[in-house]
Amino acid sequence: MNRKCNSIFTEPLADVDNEVADAISREIARQQDNLVMIASENLVSKAVLEAQGSVMTNKYAEGYPGARYYGGCNCVDSVEQLACDRARQIFKAEHVNVQPHSGTSANMAVFLALLKPGDHILGMNLSHGGHLTHGSKVNISGRYYKAFSYEVDESSFLIDLEQVRRKARESAPRLIIAGASAYPRTIDYRGFKEIADEVGALLLVDMAHTAGLVAAGVHPNPIEVADVVTATTHKTFRGPRGGMIFCREKFAAAIDKAVFPGLQGGPLMHIIAAKAVAMLEALRPGYIDYQKSVLANAQVLAETLDAHGFKLMTGGTDTHLVLVDLRNKNISGREAEQLLERVHITVNKNVIPYDPSGANDPSGIRLGTPTLTSRGMGTDQMRSIAGLINETLEKRADSVALDQIRERVAELCRQYPLC
Ligand SMILES: *Cc1c(COP(=O)(O)O)cnc(C)c1O
Repeated sequence: MNRKCNSIFTEPLADVDNEVADAISREIARQQDNLVMIASENLVSKAVLEAQGSVMTNKYAEGYPGARYYGGCNCVDSVEQLACDRARQIFKAEHVNVQPHSGTSANMAVFLALLKPGDHILGMNLSHGGHLTHGSKVNISGRYYKAFSYEVDESSFLIDLEQVRRKARESAPRLIIAGASAYPRTIDYRGFKEIADEVGALLLVDMAHTAGLVAAGVHPNPIEVADVVTATTHKTFRGPRGGMIFCREKFAAAIDKAVFPGLQGGPLMHIIAAKAVAMLEALRPGYIDYQKSVLANAQVLAETLDAHGFKLMTGGTDTHLVLVDLRNKNISGREAEQLLERVHITVNKNVIPYDPSGANDPSGIRLGTPTLTSRGMGTDQMRSIAGLINETLEKRADSVALDQIRERVAELCRQYPLC
């Protein structure tokens, strides 16, 4: 029998497109050779990558399991059902939608489901740790809705619920948003829910950053409290790049209709397959230890930086991230980011609350532990890395010293390979 498949199915990437193949190999080396401390990033397993790189990408499946607009959906139905069942089990949720392409799409779907254009929303100020999608003027959330914001306290840098209450009374929002991108502390979701109830608003918790900690039970679960909860699957959760939405049964139909057909067309079935795999990984016993280690590493990173004289916003962390005010170190966030890049430590410059400088050259940096913890690093390595960060900034003018630091970073990277 002559079974000859079309050669497009068999030619390896390197033969088809060496430019892209080359960029991918350089990216593998970059991830391998750098200490990645971007708080919103992580590393996925080979199993997740395999599902994500599968032929599920070929399938159109508009609709939901059992109710699709296309034939041939029985296999993709299986993976979406698995993803939903596992997500509901992990997060103890009444309903979940795993189709949002990203955290941003998840938030947009919630707005579309619950709000009308012009409705008032109240979210955390972007420069105080909130997210673009919580009402920023440059985002659709701030253009189609009337957005108000709350700030953190000027001396403790903690969310001040009395201020949130006052702003909620003044602005009469239809929706209050709790959740942040650069806030290192536990958020009092019950306090937010009381305020929402008092002013007749709904509460959306955006746990994009903390979903993995919540999944492991090492951080409070907002799903018990909020009306709707959005999450990403690629940050602490350690799955493929994507979003999801949890809600009470009474909002389920509205949320599902907002995702499809309201906002998206065909779901990314290869990503949903990978989400299902990541959910299974989150149900394994090792996952809780991983998330505990993410927290312990962030604690030790914070303590050691503090001992080196770094000023930490809120004085420390309850989560996977640390926000550092660099002003007493006489270096800007942008300069620090570039200097650390030179020694192969990857961080991001970040505004700090009440930052006297602008977003292009803010006063802080944000550091996180999920990626390093996925490589197997523990508290001893965090102590060393905090020391290396300190030395890098102190010896910024000494290129020989910086080269030596980069060699010590390289040694750590070799000890904890990606695979
Ligand atoms: C990262 C993040 C998002 C958006 O996620 P994307 O997948 O990048 O769109 C939304 N909200 C918060 C609080 C985030 O930190």
